Amino acid sequence: MEFDFLNKNVLVTGASRGIGRAIAQRFAESGARVAIHYHINRQAAEGTLADLPGGPHLLVQADVSDPESVRRMVDTAVNTMEKIHVLVNSAGIFDEYPILDVTYEQWQEKWERTIRTNLLGPANTCFCLIKHMKRQGGGKIVNVSSRGAFRGEPRAPDYGASKAGLNSLSQSMALALASHNVFVYVVAPGFVDTDMTAEMLSGPRGDAIRGESPLGRVALPDEVARAVAFLASEGTEYLTGCIVDVNGASYLRS
Ligand code: NAP
Repeated sequence: MEFDFLNKNVLVTGASRGIGRAIAQRFAESGARVAIHYHINRQAAEGTLADLPGGPHLLVQADVSDPESVRRMVDTAVNTMEKIHVLVNSAGIFDEYPILDVTYEQWQEKWERTIRTNLLGPANTCFCLIKHMKRQGGGKIVNVSSRGAFRGEPRAPDYGASKAGLNSLSQSMALALASHNVFVYVVAPGFVDTDMTAEMLSGPRGDAIRGESPLGRVALPDEVARAVAFLASEGTEYLTGCIVDVNGASYLRS
């Protein structure tokens, strides 16, 4: 499927690497101008920028766990591009640990960091941008969640909870914003071949993880990007509030 995002501006968080980078590429190849967000890895973000056709695109920096940083990022993107038609929240962290062996202090630290990054980050990005979207007559938001929100994450319960929270946030925003022509969607990937999973996929659990899907492999970042582009494209207004699984039938829900 080809998408047409000519004359559309898109802000993609976490676009320096992985899924966010593939999303930025997919939008740029479909004619959009992209604000490529990164956190600390400017070099990787410059690599994304160099690979994108069209433009002019721009780089925006923020620690999404810091509300002021998010505000500055959104202001920079809006001031430069004037309108943001699509926001994709892809930036996120995942950290496994043996939950019975960590100290109470470590437990606090992990929960705080993950919730701040994976849930409060997208919540604040949405908050800062929706007023602009309302003023400009509408927009679309796609949040990148995870299969872990449904299936549980025994080695990363904070991550599973952050993504379940992101699903709920997205559903609430879909209800609150439809009358302002702002539509909100979720994409929930299973395992995807990125830096986040590289160690797990190359380690002893790799084959078992690939075997979770009847396709016998994990997803490519562009397979997630295509789902995001579809949801952000014309004619999907009535899908607002949906959660699209991109997990290769590794976890089925009805
Ligand atoms: P990745 O390759 O590890 O890339 C993470 C991205 O998030 C990078 O762009 C990174 O920026 C950014 N980031 C991390 N912490 C940040 C912070 N505090 N503030 C701002 N940006 C931050 O991850 P990925 O695999 O592409 O994952 C993208 C999204 O998909 C995440 O939300 C993840 O939970 C979700 N997901 C991934 C998988 C998977 O199997 N990979 C499965 C389900 C869901 P820098 O490069 O500057 O550090």
